[in-house]
Amino acid sequence: MTAESAAAAAGATVHGYPRQGPNRELKKAIEGYWKGRVTAEALQQTAEDLRVANWRQLAEAGIHEVPTGDYSSYDHMLDASVMVGAIPERHRAAVAADPLAGYFAMARGTQDVAPLEMTKWFDTNYHYLVPELGPDTDFAADAAKQVAELKEALALGLAARPVLVGPVTYLLLAKPAPGVAADFQPLSLLERLLPVYAEILADLRAAGAEWVQLDEPALVQDRAPDELAAAERAYRELGGLTDRPKLLVASYFDRLGDALPMLARSPVDGLALDFTEAAAANLDALAAAGGLPGKRLVAGVVNGRNIWINDLEKSLAVLGTLLGLAGRVDVSASCSLLHVPLDARAERDIDPEVLRWLSFARQKTAEIATLAKGLAQGTDAISAELAANRADLASRADSALTHDPVVRARAAAVTEAETRRSPSYAERASAQRAHLGLPLLPTTTIGSFPQTTELRTARADLRAGRIDADAYDERIKTEIRDVLAFQEKAGIDVLVHGEPERNDMVQYFAEQLTGYLATQHGWVQSYGTRYVRPPILAGDLSRPEPMTVRWTQYAQSLTRRPVKGMLTGPVTMLAWSFVRDDQPLGDTARQVALALRDEVGDLEAAGTSVIQVDEPALRETLPLRAADRDAYLAWATEAFRLTTAGVRPDTQIHTHMCYAEFGDIVQAIDDLDADVISLEAARSHMQVAHELAEHGYPREAGPGVYDIHSPRVPGAEEAAALLRKGLEAIPAERLWVNPDCGLKTRGWPETRASLENLVAAARTVRGAL
Ligand code: GLN
Ligand code: ZN
Repeated sequence: MTAESAAAAAGATVHGYPRQGPNRELKKAIEGYWKGRVTAEALQQTAEDLRVANWRQLAEAGIHEVPTGDYSSYDHMLDASVMVGAIPERHRAAVAADPLAGYFAMARGTQDVAPLEMTKWFDTNYHYLVPELGPDTDFAADAAKQVAELKEALALGLAARPVLVGPVTYLLLAKPAPGVAADFQPLSLLERLLPVYAEILADLRAAGAEWVQLDEPALVQDRAPDELAAAERAYRELGGLTDRPKLLVASYFDRLGDALPMLARSPVDGLALDFTEAAAANLDALAAAGGLPGKRLVAGVVNGRNIWINDLEKSLAVLGTLLGLAGRVDVSASCSLLHVPLDARAERDIDPEVLRWLSFARQKTAEIATLAKGLAQGTDAISAELAANRADLASRADSALTHDPVVRARAAAVTEAETRRSPSYAERASAQRAHLGLPLLPTTTIGSFPQTTELRTARADLRAGRIDADAYDERIKTEIRDVLAFQEKAGIDVLVHGEPERNDMVQYFAEQLTGYLATQHGWVQSYGTRYVRPPILAGDLSRPEPMTVRWTQYAQSLTRRPVKGMLTGPVTMLAWSFVRDDQPLGDTARQVALALRDEVGDLEAAGTSVIQVDEPALRETLPLRAADRDAYLAWATEAFRLTTAGVRPDTQIHTHMCYAEFGDIVQAIDDLDADVISLEAARSHMQVAHELAEHGYPREAGPGVYDIHSPRVPGAEEAAALLRKGLEAIPAERLWVNPDCGLKTRGWPETRASLENLVAAARTVRGAL
């Protein structure tokens, strides 16, 4: 094979790249623009410079076709809404007056106008802005951003492929606009939307696009027959256009299932499929569908969601099989590299022996290029890379960090009995009632109190060495005293220490657990200009010493009322970290659970009678396909029970969940066997209380009566009305009174007023019982 024809048979590409820049330049430019310190022109220039730098870097690394249009000033779904002209009525004037300011108004709202709703992008920690559609939505093509970015890349002399959210996914992720009937199906607008896509495709072709990628990740979820039929119609119609570029339909995050044979048959020119372990079924399904003869297959063999090096030999084997199944195979990541940090080489504090296991976007790009080269030219052409990869993988497999015999032996010896509380809930409940002596409708909070500037300054001072650990501790203690004094005065029944010492509910624990790594620059976009640095759960996990006990104990020393201990649960620890991929998730969860179980035991021994284990991420980590859910929920609920089941009957275990609707996991909530659960409920008017009641949930629950996502102070009567609603579903003996979630993002004035109203509401409703 000549080098030229080999390159044609196997190229290297990616679906998208981190947007922020090596020093989060994009964040700084956008936030500067919001504050009026950066002009629109300067922001656009920064953005263009970053795009150009990314493309150059990709091309130099050996990516033969770069993605365009994956850049976003806020969110790619919002960009898609602009592209198809789906600007909500309430934002039209602002967008017409100043498109950039109007764009950010849709994303963030203004004093007078609400933003679009934000929600999670599949099961990632990225959040998108939900399109608002209705029967009157009038789509109109606006390809300007896509065309401009394509031209920028082409001007660099690169082969470039615009990446667009596909029409089916766009509609499936949309919701009825305000004022539109709740049962309106955005997918019913498909026939109206397709001509708009046709126009955009023609514009892109005219601008020089040979290929255009249409992302359809919504097709990896369970889809009803009519939804699959709609997708089939969509690609029959778009494929049948005469004035169009070649179409690559991309899926990621899971297997395509029934959509795979359908798309393989459709008149598009190529498919991008996820071939990582979670979507391994795609391989057999593709073969069963007869492959993609004469078409292009973009093979996502490098995991775009984790930060571990690829097993190059394994990937080559998969790619070798795929070569026989398609006209042309390109190597890629399983999804956009948006979901991983930019460059592992920027990490200076990670042990080099561990750093060699890590692969961020830049390293993944190199892996993709290497695999493409190996596929095209044979493994001899990449023998040095293969040898280095083998050594790196061996270093990880043999490391003491990934294999702590003590941790492994303990995890292997866990018995069913250790994961079950005894005695039964009824007996526990009366022991707890006697022990705690709480009134009916007891009041509590979810844990955190406002994270003030002073607290953040104290942390920064400690890090910079401006204050020592003792001075820092003094500041934390002062805060705990204030938080306790307020709660006692307000008349709250079960108190908290306020979590002033925690930077973040996962990071705080990760920093104290052996097996976890922190990064300095490992930023990943969560939404808009918000970036997070998830810790890396790299090795076997253990707890060298107690993590929270002294603060809870200090708080308890200040009051006679019970102070609730506060921990982050094993599932949430995993969900908001990068987790190891060299063992089943359930095994990792069990190690975390055992470390937390020791903490629970130490809290109890230190005199804590109420311990809350937060699992806000239990619902969001639910697998995309229903068939995978039972297995997940089995290990997830077991890990929670393993964390909590070692306590005495009269120690009360609480849990807390938020960020989701819970209707479909009520059984799992029941399986946690927590004595009390607090849940987000204020905005949905206590819907979850009714869902729990319908299920026959037997234990105590506190559906939130104070929406903490807004600075608005709920009135006492409003909270009382919600409580009465809660009482329709949950009897007074089992109903708690609490906010929706922690108060860390709130200010003190509204927190004070809201909690005083909450206590007043509890007293009023109690008085009427
Ligand atoms: N205990 C945590 C807090 O109060 C819970 C946060 C959460 O659920 N996201 O902040
Ligand atoms: Zn919460």
